[in-house]
Amino acid sequence: MIRQLKSGADPRFFPKLASFLRQERYGTVGAIAMDRDGKIAVAASTGGIMLHLPGRVGDTPIIGAGTYANQHGGVLATGHGEEIIKLNLAFRTAGFMEQLPAQKAVARSLDLASKCGCKGGLIAIDRRGNVGFGFNSQAMSYAYVAGGEVVVF
Ligand code: ASP
Repeated sequence: MIRQLKSGADPRFFPKLASFLRQERYGTVGAIAMDRDGKIAVAASTGGIMLHLPGRVGDTPIIGAGTYANQHGGVLATGHGEEIIKLNLAFRTAGFMEQLPAQKAVARSLDLASKCGCKGGLIAIDRRGNVGFGFNSQAMSYAYVAGGEVVVF
């Protein structure tokens, strides 16, 4: 649909369309927390992606796709939900954390995502409390709190 709009929409009738189409806007807000016993919880909310049908379900509420936690770590994804679902990206990243720290697990998942044409980003915490984050989309805002210190990027 976006391709059709890019090529076929008459700018006289859709004056703001060009600026919308230039942006990769993803609207997920997510958080991962680890308690003092090392238990991990993940939560997310999303506005979805523009120009999709009402009723669409993206990756965010699908456990394993956009959101996942197990004994190895917690993961949250943002980006193009349809591709994230196909890759089961949060589950896969948590699986990588069985062997790898969070940052390396995120990097491995983003390599795979890039190879598959999936744009987005990930945040993660592994069972040792290491954080990981990264994205292959235009931008992603993220921060973490550790030992009372807030680190913002
Ligand atoms: N992943 C979300 C979706 O596809 C969009 C986002 O990350 O903002 O609905």
